[in-house]
Amino acid sequence: MTHERTRELYDRALSVLPGGVNSAVRAAPQPYPLFVEKGIGGHVVDADGTRYVDWIQGLGPLLLGHDLPESVTAAIQRRTAEGPLFGMPTELEVDHAEFVARHVPSVEMLRFVNSGTEATVSAVRLARAVTGRNKVVVMQGGYHGAQESTLVEGDADHPKPSTNGIPQSFAKHTLPVPFNDAEAAKHVFEEHGDDIACVLVEPVQANAGIAYPVDGYHETVRELCDDHGSLLVWDEVITGFRVGGLQCAQGKFGIDPDLTTFGKIIGGGFPVGAIGGKTEYVEQFTPSGDTFQAGTFSGHPVTMAAGLETLQFAAENDVYEHVNDLGRQLREGLCDIVADQAPGYTVVGTDSIFKLMFTRADSPPQGDSCSNGCRQDASCARFDECPKRGTDVGRMETDRYARLFRPAMREQGILVSQNQYEANFVSYGHTKDDVERTLEAYRDCL
Ligand SMILES: *Cc1c(COP(=O)(O)O)cnc(C)c1O
Repeated sequence: MTHERTRELYDRALSVLPGGVNSAVRAAPQPYPLFVEKGIGGHVVDADGTRYVDWIQGLGPLLLGHDLPESVTAAIQRRTAEGPLFGMPTELEVDHAEFVARHVPSVEMLRFVNSGTEATVSAVRLARAVTGRNKVVVMQGGYHGAQESTLVEGDADHPKPSTNGIPQSFAKHTLPVPFNDAEAAKHVFEEHGDDIACVLVEPVQANAGIAYPVDGYHETVRELCDDHGSLLVWDEVITGFRVGGLQCAQGKFGIDPDLTTFGKIIGGGFPVGAIGGKTEYVEQFTPSGDTFQAGTFSGHPVTMAAGLETLQFAAENDVYEHVNDLGRQLREGLCDIVADQAPGYTVVGTDSIFKLMFTRADSPPQGDSCSNGCRQDASCARFDECPKRGTDVGRMETDRYARLFRPAMREQGILVSQNQYEANFVSYGHTKDDVERTLEAYRDCL
């Protein structure tokens, strides 16, 4: 395996791109990131011509893998040839919005934007406008994009910006609480209930390990929002059209959020985001309402074509059966390997996301009830030690993951998530053979 051209490209990149990349996580791989030439099915080929099984899948958007079906490619090419965008509405935006509203239980109306970040920015603005309140409850270790209201850490009593460049006077409106802790949620509403515009929460925390909700958690948060007149905003940027299939995670868990943010899969691999929800709220965006929201590229015809054709393909083919089945095979296979070789580690994930968490648990291995990924089963011997929230990841064997495990997997031709926080994604382009090769590599590298 040579890395000559990749090294050369990274060397050049360091001079003109901060850290050599355009999004921070891409620089995480040791000793340096690989540069991609092209994708094929569930694989990528790097600048030196080496082919890898790719579980990064664009960090989530690529439900169908790298080879898009003919219907998707044809729609993208047709839209591009007819002029990329107009600044005037097109039929495609209506078709795509109708598709999402038809399948996602809580969504009656939506506004398309260009990224998940833009979606959460606009959802928070809308919630503040609707309620006339300022405070936003977020989950510690959650991720809602690179925006001022959510790049906040600490706790509800001492929130502080999690990055330079955000004033404390912004951060003080954000109340971080631990995910999966119903008592903490009740407490923050007791203290601040009348000032809380919304709770912003991922259904399954999927940007810092993968934390499945404990029984009843989301129901409690839904009730608290109802009791205090706050909006419940589900951030389904990762889980949307992945967890729970076409009905998304809210269908799977049976929760009815007021607003939902989307991104990733709904653009079919192109930049996208959307804020969906009840008409009474969403129509408060300009021009039907008074909450300003706009974007030159919003509802971009090429993106709309790619996203809609992707979802239609998924609706008409065995996409979710395929990806969820391979996801299950990976999680079950990993549980077996871990029981033999690393009993302290925890297999997490659901549907087509998976991850091996490098936990330091002393208790017995995961029980059978969680052989398809940790389900927060209260009767499991590991219940107390299994990761409950994103912040738990920081206590794990980060160096072992980053310096030993991931580079060894890469040497075997398998690309797993670029740091120990991100999830791995199964696509329609992956095969049973990819799963077997991957499990074999885990067996060798752990
Ligand atoms: C990726 C992600 C975002 C941010 O989306 P971008 O398109 O990267 O701006 C927001 N929320 C969640 C849950 C995400 O996974």
